[in-house]
Amino acid sequence: MPWYYAEGTHSREQGVERRGPLDDAAFEALAQSGRLRATTLVWQTGMAEWQALSVVRPDLVAQTPPPLLAVEIETPLAFCAVCGMPQSPEDLLTFSGRLICAACKPRFAQGLTLGIDLSLPRQQYAGFWIRFGARLIDGILLAIVQYALIFAVAGLGTESAVSLGVSGLIYFLVHPTYEAVMTVKHRATLGKLALGIRILRTDGTQLTWGRAIGRYFAQLLSQVILFIGYVMAAFDDRKQALHDRLCDTVVVYES
Ligand SMILES: [Zn+2]
Repeated sequence: MPWYYAEGTHSREQGVERRGPLDDAAFEALAQSGRLRATTLVWQTGMAEWQALSVVRPDLVAQTPPPLLAVEIETPLAFCAVCGMPQSPEDLLTFSGRLICAACKPRFAQGLTLGIDLSLPRQQYAGFWIRFGARLIDGILLAIVQYALIFAVAGLGTESAVSLGVSGLIYFLVHPTYEAVMTVKHRATLGKLALGIRILRTDGTQLTWGRAIGRYFAQLLSQVILFIGYVMAAFDDRKQALHDRLCDTVVVYES
């Protein structure tokens, strides 16, 4: 009977997310890895409601070491190509060109010997137009913030000086902060979230703070060459824009 569990560690702002299904072996391996706590809510078919791991499977709790919270939050995530479970990249094995977790590797290897590929579909790269749409949404949101700020401080100086100052502030402070926070915490800006696309490293891991901030400024480079850096995405096999190539990132449909 497959297991599901609730996880909030990596997405405190988004609330709790449902993970699974996991077979017994994978579920137990996960508990033993320390990712599931005594208080983690779990569920499987037949249960009326979600219950703490300590209630459902007390035998697994005893084996759970205390979480390394700081490490967990700092470690970028990657996803097993078979079960889709988030893992830190060093816990995944590269096998036949895919990142696979230890629990799934035997099954995946066995599948390959039988000519069956058990892995999830490969990442679908998001093309130029959907990314253009996401950028448009972000642009509208930022413009609203920009004009709200201009109106809020309009009394402080001549209007053109204020609007110039606010524009500069948006360009060099608000926008990069927005992109970095959203990209690191949610793997997408609000525009990309709305359209179901995500920014990842080419190996499927999440961006670190440095890379997310760097990517914003690399986008400015894509802009100053008459937006040719963006148009490059339309002609690339992985749909990488110039700033994606510089930062080793891709934009993919949420899987
Ligand atoms: Zn797996």
